[in-house]
Amino acid sequence: MIRSPALLLSLVVLLQSTPQGGPSARTEGLQPAAQATAPRAIRRDVPLTNSIRRAYEAKTRDLSGRPGPSYWQLQTDYTITARLDPATHTITGEETIALRNNSPQELTQILLRLDHNIFRGLVPRGGSVPAENTDGMIVTRISVDGEAAELGPAPSGGRGQSPNTGRRLSASALDQTLARITLSKPVAAKSVAKLEIAWRTKLPGGTGGRGHRMTQRWDDTLFQPTQWFPRVAKYDDLRGWDTSVYLGPAEFYNNFGRFDVKIDVPGGWIVSGTGVLQNPQDVLTAKARERLARVLDSDDEITIVGADEAGPGKATAAGDRLVWHFVADMVNDFAWATAKNYVWRATRATIPGKGPIPIHMVHLPERANMFAKAGPITRHALEFYSKLWVPYPFPQLTLQDGPSSGMEYPMVINSNQGAADHEAAHQWWPMLVGTNETWYGWMDEGFDEYMNILSDADAEGVPAKLDGLGQSYGRTSGNEEEPPMMWAANLAGNMYGFQTYSKAPLMLSMLGGIVGDEAVQRAMREYTKVWSFKHPSPWDYIFFMNNALGQDLNWFWYYWLWTTESVHGSIANVTPAGARTTVTVRQDGEMPSPVVMKVQFAKTGPAIKPMANAKMLDDATALVTWPVEVWFNGSRTFQAVLDFGARPIEKITLDPSGRFPDKNPADNQWPRK
Ligand SMILES: [Zn+2]
Repeated sequence: MIRSPALLLSLVVLLQSTPQGGPSARTEGLQPAAQATAPRAIRRDVPLTNSIRRAYEAKTRDLSGRPGPSYWQLQTDYTITARLDPATHTITGEETIALRNNSPQELTQILLRLDHNIFRGLVPRGGSVPAENTDGMIVTRISVDGEAAELGPAPSGGRGQSPNTGRRLSASALDQTLARITLSKPVAAKSVAKLEIAWRTKLPGGTGGRGHRMTQRWDDTLFQPTQWFPRVAKYDDLRGWDTSVYLGPAEFYNNFGRFDVKIDVPGGWIVSGTGVLQNPQDVLTAKARERLARVLDSDDEITIVGADEAGPGKATAAGDRLVWHFVADMVNDFAWATAKNYVWRATRATIPGKGPIPIHMVHLPERANMFAKAGPITRHALEFYSKLWVPYPFPQLTLQDGPSSGMEYPMVINSNQGAADHEAAHQWWPMLVGTNETWYGWMDEGFDEYMNILSDADAEGVPAKLDGLGQSYGRTSGNEEEPPMMWAANLAGNMYGFQTYSKAPLMLSMLGGIVGDEAVQRAMREYTKVWSFKHPSPWDYIFFMNNALGQDLNWFWYYWLWTTESVHGSIANVTPAGARTTVTVRQDGEMPSPVVMKVQFAKTGPAIKPMANAKMLDDATALVTWPVEVWFNGSRTFQAVLDFGARPIEKITLDPSGRFPDKNPADNQWPRK
């Protein structure tokens, strides 16, 4: 989703309220002796938790960062029929789920995600509040392999207890966002179970709610259902069943599978959604079908259904009710929208190695201005990100107008032009690379924000603005409210936006400062390829990047992902001695970094002697680098010897590209201003 204005505001306040000046001069004298003199212990590995150790033992993952020889994931294939009753704002549905247990374990229970229960007033919520409470997801029938389950209340002890051992097929906690089916017979390893579920849910409307996804309709004329059907929770090799609670802000972790969805709505209502429409001859007019046939011919925008074509027989085929049939082959969710008077326009994007695909836009006639630039922005996003990572993997993308504007689902973005670039980028993660967003929001929103910086620059035809980002983290570092990026996003509190959205681009800015931005992007391109339609963990990302970049960067990952430390570098002293100059570089933070210095010489004078670890930027400017290893002996100071000959040095700048987190860049200059 897009970062909410409230989160953005809190970040700005946070950055502005942090003192810019370095505190070291004032506080050094107050530090306990041990703090001031102890060697800096630099950690050079990353913590391995129980879950990743288990995966390594089972060979489902390994230190190559690629899926291990025994990697597996569940697949869930959904067949859903749903009927919308606009007058009661209710969807009534039946679904069949083929649960393909590709794991080597038998399943004794199945967890169901009933996200719409967040609209009941009584379940835990994060910073998201709907304007209207509802009765939530009402499940009326569950069967497993043809056997009906007893639908009961939560077992005593509530959620988190082990399932009852009575082996009676039953479902519990159906009023929570995470429900449990206790099986009478386990689902054997490598077998398929068939779940059938009947349900209904009312879509919340109103105004004054807070958070994306918390308002799903405008009156009784536009509906934008998301997380609208019972889903099988994720079961993986790291933690078994994913029991993270859906609180509103942090997002999802879903199984991949095929969706076959039939949506029954009043005639005249346009339906858009994940997948490809299977029955245009049943639901569209001949005129609309002719117009659709021309969408891929050019970058022009074509009106499929205009504002003047409302009602059955004009906007759609004739009939009181029409059933729209969509199929998506391999996706991790399904979202849709429908309105009594959507305008439907379409254009195309040309995907490298694949050819043109349609971009659909459905919006209310009076909101056309919010979609005026959506086509070109979305085309640029799909084409640019296809080149940056891997080609856009899906057969279409649709922008849906409605109360939730800034949210992503497979092939669908609930967005106008404002967030079109950001939401389109989500098609790569988590829609293609299925990360666990609930725990590791930075692998989703954070990587997305990094892509957006590159896309914005490409659209403007300017270099990407990555300089300065890494350094800026020094101003946030030290805030006690900041959780490390590896802490579950559900626990991030006030700094959820910073932890999940803002910090990853800062981290990748520093990584680019070490290995080069192009190398970062090349490695992430490979990571995207290898983990397409799979579920990488942070350790897979870390070790994949180390291997792709040919460097042991565990020190880097440790400080960025598990701590809130910074580098806090400075030039402490400069001592010329003949043709050599010794620069004393100091690091007061706990995170180490390479030493990178820009050295500016007098325009004239003796020849500048080359140094092996330096390159000339122009006739009188050198960039000189020492690797991070110079800090591994624990010293907080490093004597950098400049051996450029007798040409006078006029100015030295530490970290000239602003890539390393620093509280006070002013002390990176010599002579001091
Ligand atoms: Zn997002």
